[in-house]
Amino acid sequence: MIWHILGAVSLFFNTVKTDKIVSNNSELILTNKTKLVSNKTKIATSSLIFKNKEIFNKLPIKKYEKLALFEPARDTIHKENSSNSLKEYREITASQKIDIITYRIFFNGSIEKHIPKVIAVGNENKYKYEYIAKEGKTLNLGSFKIHKTKTFKGSEDEYVNLINLEIVPKYFKQKNYQYHFNIDSRRSFVNEQTLASFFGAMLEVNYLDISCNGFSHKNGSSKPSRSHINGNNGDFKYLRSDKTLECGPGTSLNISKAPESLDYARQNKWNDALYKFGWKIMLGWTYTVKKTTKQLHHITHKTTNHHHHLHVQNYEPDFKEIKQ
Ligand SMILES: [Zn+2]
Repeated sequence: MIWHILGAVSLFFNTVKTDKIVSNNSELILTNKTKLVSNKTKIATSSLIFKNKEIFNKLPIKKYEKLALFEPARDTIHKENSSNSLKEYREITASQKIDIITYRIFFNGSIEKHIPKVIAVGNENKYKYEYIAKEGKTLNLGSFKIHKTKTFKGSEDEYVNLINLEIVPKYFKQKNYQYHFNIDSRRSFVNEQTLASFFGAMLEVNYLDISCNGFSHKNGSSKPSRSHINGNNGDFKYLRSDKTLECGPGTSLNISKAPESLDYARQNKWNDALYKFGWKIMLGWTYTVKKTTKQLHHITHKTTNHHHHLHVQNYEPDFKEIKQ
């Protein structure tokens, strides 16, 4: 099946008139400045890269209907793709004007918070998150409302910016990078930094079955846990070999009772990713398969009540704040 995609207009109004014919299985690349328009209705504007098939399955468009593709000028695309090393990338982005506080999460585990001189009206209470992949490509993960909250058990004038994981898209896919997670807890608030680390860890492993058993409540408290305050410490279900993503009471994998269901290879990679992006201590359980008892990565001993979830704490990310 052949689809015709007509017309490319740059953001800078350098009209580039091209007729593009894209087959159903080829990839249509939408940069974050690209709009895909059908019948004058905006149907996609994001930095996602879809298979055309996925777009056409998703959208209410008819066969052979004309689509207009609006995309940035070629030199802009070149600039986005040309940075192959972190150093080069940092030089380019340092000079880029931004109008929203932006977290840049680098594939190597480092995290930067960029604060622009001027924040655009409407962006005052939002932070943007970007992942910088190995290839130098920037993935836009979205902008999210922050809740300035008095630090739980902190001093009088101490605040923390919390973000509700419920408003973060649960699914993301762009080329080789993807994640899918759920929140199986009412403690759905992370903080501005741990959100960056969570994204970084998820995009390191690219799993589609991450189940979070909670960080903090809206006010930074953590009942019934005592340690999950201010969005720093979190719990995750152990990963299953069948890769199912479950939610609800009793769905956490108990690796003491059913160790054969644990995907320890993927779990170890996930533990390594969480460690790399900031959580330096993990609490969990051992698993015994074929009469051999083993430890998961970064777990040194069995901790009571941690046979059904992984707990991450001692959050010390490789973090830098940059004021423009
Ligand atoms: Zn915990």
